[in-house]
Amino acid sequence: MQLDAFERLSLAHLPTPIEPLPHLTTALGGPQILVKRDDCTGLAFGGNKTRKLEYAMAAALAESADCVITAGGLQSNHVRQTAAAAAKLGLHCVLVLDRNVPDRDEDYARTGNMLLDRLLGAEVHIEPAGVDRTAVMEDLARRQRSEGRTPYIIPTGASYPIGALGLVNCALEFDQQAKEQDLAIDAVVHASGSGGTQAGLIAGCLAAGGRTRVIGIDIDADLEAVRSAVTEIADETLSLLGISTNDLKDHVDIRGGYGGPAYGLPTEAMHDAILRAARMEGLLLDPVYSGKAFAGLIDLVERGAFEPTETVLFLHTGGLPALFAYRALFDED
Ligand SMILES: *Cc1c(COP(=O)(O)O)cnc(C)c1O
Repeated sequence: MQLDAFERLSLAHLPTPIEPLPHLTTALGGPQILVKRDDCTGLAFGGNKTRKLEYAMAAALAESADCVITAGGLQSNHVRQTAAAAAKLGLHCVLVLDRNVPDRDEDYARTGNMLLDRLLGAEVHIEPAGVDRTAVMEDLARRQRSEGRTPYIIPTGASYPIGALGLVNCALEFDQQAKEQDLAIDAVVHASGSGGTQAGLIAGCLAAGGRTRVIGIDIDADLEAVRSAVTEIADETLSLLGISTNDLKDHVDIRGGYGGPAYGLPTEAMHDAILRAARMEGLLLDPVYSGKAFAGLIDLVERGAFEPTETVLFLHTGGLPALFAYRALFDED
């Protein structure tokens, strides 16, 4: 495996810690539950995208880019971390943001990640829901070139093989931590959306010997789309790394039914999971990703998906600024 062969910048605080969740473990009466704190990767409130950006930004610099362009929804954590990485590296940053979550209140468009994107100095373009993000990014790239800049386009979520390498690195990191801390991690559970996170984790866990199962919780409310994205990116990431598998499909495990009506729309189980993690462990989760993923984990434990003797690692992928964009959801609590 040749992870070291790829250029990487240091943007994240690594390794992120692994912590026990003793009260939730006892309350659920199932496997031992641990959390890996990728919400603490450190760059402008952190999150999983910082790991992807360590490779994506290195690729941009290798192409002599002085400008990065990326896309997401108004409350995208990926674009916020990209804006921060660009600021840190002295690159111009252009963001395409679409209104992919309908009917939210004013907080949604003004605070949380939106506030931070502007604070970080990004050039923000707001588009209607359903816009072709790639086409808009290519159009803006042409405009940047005509102004004399050299743009590099990072796909939505940095979910492409270069970005997924950051999560290969995450899997190797927790494998090493497990060895040092004498843990046997049977499964890792996390929020899966644009697919790069799960793809990288699958490739990394296979590279580390395949003892840990990777279970993605679909937060897009579109199981088939998430499955095809994860499978395609995992396949390409494994080829990049020179690892061959002919049973990749057996490793792509994504659980649906936890996303609610659509991406970004609240569910009762998410709301409940956020309150339980906050009040039992002092652990903050977000409404769009980690809250829904943790609700999925709770349900899987309650359905007996794990042996009580097993150890499950919840990968906390971040997203916390979005809590403020959902202020009204917690007003009554
Ligand atoms: C982007 C994101 C994810 C999902 O990662 P993908 O690579 O898009 O599947 C999970 N959690 C948070 C907080 C995110 O911002």
